[in-house]
Amino acid sequence: MGKADNPARPAGQSSADLLIVGGGIMGLWAAVHAEQLGVGTLLVDAGYLGQGASGGVLGALMPHMPDRWSDKKQFQLEALVALETEIARIEAETGLSAGYRRSGRLIPLPKPHLRTIALRHEQDAVNNWRHDGREFRWHVLDAPPVDDWIDPTAGASGFVQDTLAARVAPRSLVAALAAFLRGARHVRIIEGLAIDGLDPDRGIASTRQGEIRFDRCILSAGHRSFPMLDGMTTALQSPLGQPVKGQAALLKADVDPGMPVIFRDGLYVVAHEGGHVAVGSTSEDRFDDPLSTDERLDDLLTSARSLVPSLGGAEVVERWAGLRPKAIDRDPMVGAHPEHPSLIALTGGFKVSFGLAHQLAAAAVYEAFRILPLIYLPETFTLKNHIAVASRKT
Ligand SMILES: Cc1cc2nc3c(=O)[nH]c(=O)nc-3n(C[C@H](O)[C@H](O)[C@H](O)COP(=O)(O)OP(=O)(O)OC[C@H]3O[C@@H](n4cnc5c(N)ncnc54)[C@H](O)[C@@H]3O)c2cc1C
Repeated sequence: MGKADNPARPAGQSSADLLIVGGGIMGLWAAVHAEQLGVGTLLVDAGYLGQGASGGVLGALMPHMPDRWSDKKQFQLEALVALETEIARIEAETGLSAGYRRSGRLIPLPKPHLRTIALRHEQDAVNNWRHDGREFRWHVLDAPPVDDWIDPTAGASGFVQDTLAARVAPRSLVAALAAFLRGARHVRIIEGLAIDGLDPDRGIASTRQGEIRFDRCILSAGHRSFPMLDGMTTALQSPLGQPVKGQAALLKADVDPGMPVIFRDGLYVVAHEGGHVAVGSTSEDRFDDPLSTDERLDDLLTSARSLVPSLGGAEVVERWAGLRPKAIDRDPMVGAHPEHPSLIALTGGFKVSFGLAHQLAAAAVYEAFRILPLIYLPETFTLKNHIAVASRKT
């Protein structure tokens, strides 16, 4: 547990300037920013840090396509570039590796028309994938740029190699952030305590151990944030979001960890450090058991092994499933609640949380305390936008 040092509040676990509900990747980064700003913070998780969707195995950091540029794509580009520095800082402070590497991405092009589209994107990347003195590329190649990785026949019309994509080991990053926070001056952590109710206007969170008082609350409880927000929002016609189950697996394989992430039709193959390769993911709106794995994962593994022949005999060391938070309008859901301004949402990262969480969390913390300049969020990312979408009559 981090040390208590909050001059504006009495010491103890029952009050904080900032209460963060949920210690997944979103809540952890929010706590890091709060620490850096010197905000007295209490981070509370119902279980242990990273026990939710953030405790998975995949860790692909995938950019959007470089065409039809938008403020949303620009936000993601800046986040993906900044993440490298943010992680390096946490690693330097803690001495722990987050398993981050900008290993790039390979996309096989099985049909000629896909090559035509990809060639257009080559120029789009030259125009758009540049930030902070860095430039990234989307190359169209006839053959894979590396040997003994992707099956060369998978790309009958070539391959895309992008140099912006990266990967991180989710559990290693969670562990590094948690270690940073355990040594923090302004952040305290309580694990194993669920927030059962929130009254943001009175600044009270209820738990089985009594009340926690707060000035501001960041709600980063993953998919569990949605029903909590639904309950305090008037005139909704639909829920603000839903959980989407995903299954993934970790294999032990003698593979160069610098190999690019492979992506084909929702299948990811991610080489990690230490002789591990992750394969994912299913996307299931309906499920009986949120944490079980089944034949859908077997099918993914079969596809992965045919795409990457060197995985043929690789042992599966873990099968894993989790629930992604998908907001009603698909984009992340961040920002102050229009009816309860001291409550700030920080969820909805769906399939791309790991590449964005540090920037979204900074935006949430800055907004919570009106620290200027506020970090710009694309309109579709705001809680206000999601509420507007969920309030439309269907
Ligand atoms: C199979 C799979 C593969 C994925 N692959 C990728 C990928 O390659 N790249 C990528 O960027 N993303 C990926 N994702 C998505 C990513 O994992 C999630 O979007 C992300 O982890 C969500 O983080 P979060 O902090 O919002 O939620 P979570 O990690 O779920 O954290 C929420 C936390 O809140 C706590 N909590 C809940 N309710 C309460 C309460 N009432 N009181 C206190 N605490 C509470 C929970 O215990 C939990 O620790 C994948 C997800 C899955 C399932």
